[in-house]
Amino acid sequence: MTGLIAGAAAVAAAGFSARWNWWRPGVKGLSVLMYHKIGTPPKGPNLGTLWVSSEMFAKQVDYLLKHGFTPVLFRDIVAAQRGGKALPEKPVLITFDDGYKNNYTQAYRILKEKGAKGNIFLVYNTMEKNNEWHNPDTEPWLPMLSWAEVNEMLASGVMDMGSHTMNHANLAKIPLEKAGWEMRESKKRLEEKLGHEIPCFAYPYGSGAFVPEVRKLALEAGYLFDFSVRQGISPWPWTQDMGPVKRIFVRGDDFMLDFHLNMTRGKARF
Ligand SMILES: [Zn+2]
Repeated sequence: MTGLIAGAAAVAAAGFSARWNWWRPGVKGLSVLMYHKIGTPPKGPNLGTLWVSSEMFAKQVDYLLKHGFTPVLFRDIVAAQRGGKALPEKPVLITFDDGYKNNYTQAYRILKEKGAKGNIFLVYNTMEKNNEWHNPDTEPWLPMLSWAEVNEMLASGVMDMGSHTMNHANLAKIPLEKAGWEMRESKKRLEEKLGHEIPCFAYPYGSGAFVPEVRKLALEAGYLFDFSVRQGISPWPWTQDMGPVKRIFVRGDDFMLDFHLNMTRGKARF
């Protein structure tokens, strides 16, 4: 009987380890969470994993605060990088790609309520419009942030802004000259519009992050930090020669166990 129970436990444990990597040693460094849409998805989207419910997002923010993580802004990592105030011991950058209006109505509201902070990568030409780069067959177009919302969030000190190109361009698939323009022009326009430096950039689709010519153009455009979609936790202090900053993709169907493993191991599943 004991043997049977032990056997069953071993089988369960084997199944558990095959799916999750809880047994890996912990990793320290700069944890960067990558979100897209917060709230309830419209009917029948094929891109459900990019939606995290407001309840789940609130739970995840609670987890961070309870476990000693300090949510920071782009301006905090930039200051630390330039020799200013050092980052807290367990820094976490909560980032949102694309600039959906639900980042204001849901994410900003929740972060503010809990005393946390986040950062949004904006697509300049889609501001005040919708996500036109996206195929409406897989999910209806979604409204994007307005400049008024962005300014309010910036002034609150709860959210910071970065660039995600002019048109959500797939940088590895367009001519280099155009890719360079997407990165330079969005930095310049956002800085003019918002009146402060935009030192952080995320590659749309993660595309081009590991194409040396594309990354060179990103750094030449003057970005201090470039963010990929490669899964993991980057070392801190970080330098550009270590490659683009890694991020932790928070999927809409993640359990809190996944979130915990992501925060401690940089990765939840295989
Ligand atoms: Zn994007």
